[in-house]
Amino acid sequence: MTTSQPIVVDSVSVSPDHYIDGQRVASASRFALSSPIDQRPLGQVAEGLDAHVEAAIVAAQQAFAAWSALTAAERKPYLDRFAEEIGRRADAFCRLESNDAGVLLSRMRHGVVPRAMLNITWFAQHALTLQNRPIETEQAHHIVRHDPAGVVAIITPWNAPLMLSTWKLGPALAAGNTCILKPPEWAPLTCSLLAEAADAAGLPRGVFNVVQGTGATTGARLVSDPRIARISFTGSVPTAKWIAQAAGANLVPCSLELGGKSPFIVLEDADLDNAAATGALMYRNAGQVCLAGTRLLVHARVADRFVAAMRGYVEKLAIGDPRDEATEVGPIIHPRQVERVQGFVQRAVAGGARLLWGGGPHPFGAQYFQPTMLTELRQDDEIVQNEVFGPVLTLQTFGSDDEAIRLANGTDYGLGGVCYGATEHATAVAQRVRTGFIWVNSFGIRDLAAPFGGIKRSGIGREGGDWSFEFFCDIKDVVVPKKPFRASFSQR
Ligand code: NAD
Repeated sequence: MTTSQPIVVDSVSVSPDHYIDGQRVASASRFALSSPIDQRPLGQVAEGLDAHVEAAIVAAQQAFAAWSALTAAERKPYLDRFAEEIGRRADAFCRLESNDAGVLLSRMRHGVVPRAMLNITWFAQHALTLQNRPIETEQAHHIVRHDPAGVVAIITPWNAPLMLSTWKLGPALAAGNTCILKPPEWAPLTCSLLAEAADAAGLPRGVFNVVQGTGATTGARLVSDPRIARISFTGSVPTAKWIAQAAGANLVPCSLELGGKSPFIVLEDADLDNAAATGALMYRNAGQVCLAGTRLLVHARVADRFVAAMRGYVEKLAIGDPRDEATEVGPIIHPRQVERVQGFVQRAVAGGARLLWGGGPHPFGAQYFQPTMLTELRQDDEIVQNEVFGPVLTLQTFGSDDEAIRLANGTDYGLGGVCYGATEHATAVAQRVRTGFIWVNSFGIRDLAAPFGGIKRSGIGREGGDWSFEFFCDIKDVVVPKKPFRASFSQR
């Protein structure tokens, strides 16, 4: 089938086709995209049929022999060029993701694109340190090898497609694996541009493939294939359960980065104004951020002052078109998601919760929702226990550290957290919260060397630094004795 005409979004041209074995591949089946900003159609994108998934797996398997045979130092120049090609297209990445996912253009420019480049170069550099990690014991010299695992399936969600795809691709490719990326169906365009960047960088054919499509069809077909050596998934809990079963059927390791309901604790000795300013930041990306601290837990004695301060920040939030550099809060990804958010709020209010602000659609557009805060809640309320993934926060009060920790730990999620208070006090409380990470008097500080991931329903596995490589590699111990070895049955 001949390749399709590019689709043009905000003057950026991008291929709607898959990218398999270094070629654009069209599909007889397509799906429509529309912008969350104003619902305008963006174009029709190739849907991955069985034959496309099959072709991508075969291409990735064939490319594996040569790519995995290179040393990390030999792979690094390819990956550095890949990052450079991403940088060369920075403006196009910003505009595409702003239009198809509603991410703020300013955040794309200053945060996401530089981070996507770093996701590739940092892991390419860090892979060099994997080659030389011997363990010396009295008996033996252990050569600990990080061998590439094979063909890796990467499945990413719509709220941060470029950032999360490169966060997985960087270490997977640097370790010597070949990859098949299945981008999110609601926002696939930056992943298509990523394929263009990889192609321009001269990545050998088949090393990186992109097959677009829905989760239930293309995604499910890909993760069920026994030729896949690793599945790296970021998304929702129900999908993760499905993927874990498919992976289990083939005994394939999977890494699952899932949702959150992270606590945001404000202790009595917190700098309330600072905490309130950070609280307002939880509405970033219209609350569609897995690691946002969405459950405000505030000491009862400072709650009124905290609420007044946070209200001041929330009232000043600039809500509007994400392509406008001044905008701070944009749209919700899909009409279905708007309905879901509205449903959560309506049920909470019907159940006795009180709105402190917001609560309904925002006049800017059909997919806009007011920044919302609910209070007077019980710990077992639906809205306290479940991820809304929209601009909706809850506020509960506590009277002691023990009570704050009990509330903080009282959901099935365990992704992140935020704790504001006098530094020593907040640090001590933070250490008792059961999550994969927690920020003290701050939010969002990330380092690629640090572990990232959730516990409980928020996921299995860690990404970042060595943890990414442990997942994407087959770790092997080659044991070379230091003294001549002679077989003996009495040997332990
Ligand atoms: P989702 O689970 O619906 O979809 C995620 C991806 O999985 C998509 O590409 C989808 O097509 C694919 N998929 C769906 N069903 C599949 C199947 N049966 N087999 C294979 N692939 C399948 O999630 P979403 O709605 O796109 O994303 C929002 C969720 O992601 C939220 O829960 C959010 O908290 C979570 N998230 C977590 C992190 C993290 O790092 N922990 C980061 C961002 C988002």
